[in-house]
Parts: sequence; C-alpha cells; structure tokens
Amino acid sequence: MFDKVLIANRGEIALRVLRACKELGIATVAVHSTADANAMHVRLADESVCIGPPASRDSYLNIPALLAACEITGADAIHPGYGFLSENARFAEILESHGITFIGPKSEHIRIMGDKIEAKRTARKLGIPCVPGSDGGVTEDEEALRIAKEIGYPVIVKAAAGGGGRGMKVARTQDDLIDALQTARTEAKAAFGDDAVYIEKFLEKPRHIEIQVLGDGKGNAIHLGERDCSLQRRHQKVWEEGPSPALNQEMRSKIGETCAQAMRDLGYLGVGTIEFLYEDGEFYFIEMNTRIQVEHPVTEMITGIDLVNEQIRIAAGATLGISQDDVKLSGHAIECRVNAENPATFRPSPGKIAYFHPPGGLGVRVDSAVYQGYTIPPYYDSLVGKLIVHGRTRNECLMRLRRALDEFVVDGIETTLPLFRTLVRNADMQNGQYDIHWLEHFLADGGMDGASGT
Ligand code: ADP
Repeated sequence: MFDKVLIANRGEIALRVLRACKELGIATVAVHSTADANAMHVRLADESVCIGPPASRDSYLNIPALLAACEITGADAIHPGYGFLSENARFAEILESHGITFIGPKSEHIRIMGDKIEAKRTARKLGIPCVPGSDGGVTEDEEALRIAKEIGYPVIVKAAAGGGGRGMKVARTQDDLIDALQTARTEAKAAFGDDAVYIEKFLEKPRHIEIQVLGDGKGNAIHLGERDCSLQRRHQKVWEEGPSPALNQEMRSKIGETCAQAMRDLGYLGVGTIEFLYEDGEFYFIEMNTRIQVEHPVTEMITGIDLVNEQIRIAAGATLGISQDDVKLSGHAIECRVNAENPATFRPSPGKIAYFHPPGGLGVRVDSAVYQGYTIPPYYDSLVGKLIVHGRTRNECLMRLRRALDEFVVDGIETTLPLFRTLVRNADMQNGQYDIHWLEHFLADGGMDGASGT
C-alpha cells in the first residue's frame, strides 16, 4: 500500500479522496493554488504545497509543479480526482517514468478512450453495442451522404476530438448534412485543432444511462449497476439517480455483464464508466470515462461499496476483492449537483457564503468542501456541493430528498437549490418519465422563470 498520496485536485473531490486515504491509513498531501490557500482540502490534509497562481493551467494543470510537490513531500502516488489531469495519458506516463503511481487506468486505455473514433472502434470490437454510424472518420461528403442514407436521417456529426458537448451538429436532410459537415469541421478545427469528424444516427428521445465498472488490470472486472443521468442542461448532468427508472433487472444484468466482460478482455485497471444512450430497449455506446465521476456516490449508496477505496487499493496492486455476486443493489439513490448559479438563468454566482446549513438524518449524504464564511472563487467550477439521498424505494428516496432540500440553507450567494425543490415536486420527475431533452424543454417553457437562488 502507498505511504503517502498527493491529491492533484481541489473542492469536494479532493476531500472525498482525502477521506478514503485516511480510512486506509495513508498520509495525504494537498496541493493548492494561491486562490485556494483557505480551502477545506488544504486544512484537512496532513501536508500541503502551493503549486501556483489561480489560473488552472498554472496550478492544478501544472505538471512540473506537481512533480516538484511529490519530490518535496515524498508522495509515492497521485490521485487526480476528476477533471484537470484525470484523463491525461501523457501525465500518467510522466508519473510512471518518475516512479510515481498514477491512481487511474493504464495510460494506453486513457488514450484509446480519449479519442472518440478509437473508443467507438474498441467498444465495437469488445462487443459493446454502439450507435449505428461511420466506422471511423468521414472525409468525403459523398461518403457521409451514403452512410446517412444507410442509417437513415436524422444524423449527428461529431468531432473526433470533441468534448463537453462541443462540435456536434444534427442534420435532418441531405442538404442539412452538407452544411453540418462544413460547420462541424470548421468548429472542430478551431476548438480542438483537429477537423476529423464522424457521423452517427441521431436519437430523438434517448435516456443517458451509464454503467459503473471496476477492474484490477489482471483480468478481473465487475459492474456495479447503472446511473441514469438523463436530466441534463447543455449536456451537463444536473440530477443523477440509480437504479434507472427505465430498466428492469434483466436489462441491467445483460448490459452490465457485457461491460464487465469487455473490461476483463481489455485488462482494464481501476474505476470507469461506460456511457450509453438508451432508447426503445436498446443501448448505444457514446463514450467511456476512465476516472472516478462526480456522480459516483449514487453507486456507493446503493451498493455500499467505497469506490475510491477500491480505486486506491487496486492502483497499489491489490486484486479485486469483490465478486459480481457480492454486488447487491439495495434501494434507490438520487444526487443533486448544487451549483453557485442562478436557478433560472444559470449565471454563476461566486462569492462569500454567509450562512451554511447542510441537511442530515438517515440516508442523507452531503459531499462538499465549502463552509460558512468561505468565499467561492470565480476561477473554477461552481459546485457548492452534492446532495445524495438514499431510500429503500424510489418513492422513499424522493420524499427524503424533498425533506433534505427544504433543510438545506446556503445564504450569501445564489444556488440551484430552488431548481431541485421544483424538480422533486414535478409529476414527470416523480414518475421517472424524462429523457435527455426534458430539462431544456421544462426551462424553455418557463418552468423556473423569475426564480432566484437566495
Ligand atoms: P461529449 O464528449 O462532447 O460530452 P458525447 O458523445 O458524450 O459528447 O455526447 C454528449 C451528449 O450529446 C449526450 O449525452 C447526448 O445528450 C448527446 N448526444 C450524443 N450523441 C448523440 C446521438 N447519437 N443522438 C442523440 N444525442 C446524442
């Protein structure tokens, strides 16, 4: 096991990793920018090192500074959290060459899954169902028109190097497609410096369902059920839950086992998430995230398995100690991402938290790094905290969530708490009837008009 782990992140995920390390008896090193000197992860870690000015590229993304921090403190591993350097294959390689363990997958797997065309090709080879579309990039318009005719309109043009929902264009006719190819190539070139695009069938009303996997790199791998992250705004997840209201046990086991087998075949190491669009009983692979995800607590609440603990132990060379039969899904969990934003316009609202009272009680978990008197800096994401609630049934979970949201007080800044208080009382949400476009329609129809976040 590691003696000392450096956590190359900030905010709630830095705290989450720190807690897992403490429970494993591992010493912790926090790193921080000058803007984060008073952050909670710095206060709770055994040691801390300032790695640069506020801008992420000069601090949390500054590889030489992170290496120096390891050197100074004698840390033998780095946990990257999510975002920042967590899916940077080059970073993983650099650490390896310095004899520091990267707590994450093998760099080759990060690289494959980071290229969307390569990821899809690999998924298909591993027997994971994919969205019908081009087998690789399309360069000629004629080729694109032929493929679109084969799979049927509408189609979506995507950038191979895409991310964060950028570089995607929907085409409903042949003429549309010619325009879409042109714009997608130009946008992809400008945003990612690579104009490679590919096309896929566009699904009209899918749900976003993702499977959590865990492997030890020695051919053992399991799945831990799914999370339904269909509630999105601008392709950003807002509310995540598990199990999905749209799946039954048979469907869950089938897609879960397909993913677990694929990870055994790949020799995948660590935690990962295989993301699908789901429509009319069919799953379609969109991408794989090779890191711990923001919404991982949903899975922890319904399985009782500490994913970060497993991730660290496996990175240290342990064999997977859990068999598929050991994974028992119990009850229902929902996570709300509470952001420092106006709940109607989503305009960021950084600033000082005058009063902070998180909810508590049975089945309620708050993962947050803020505290009363803390000032949320404007440089990073606007997450105030994640409220995760567990109940024996989805109904119990919804009732508990309603109660917890009503208890939650954050004064001094605007937050998205009012959005969740509205959603938890909405009939479609209560019935689990929503797809990836539901929230955008709800907002466009004025569902939150005039709401303020204080
Ligand atoms: P990114 O890496 O940019 O986030 P993804 O491929 O993961 O891109 O897709 C992001 C989101 O775009 C999905 O969650 C879904 O909302 C939408 N999307 C992607 N592919 C399709 C498709 N074939 N049909 C319909 N919607 C899609």
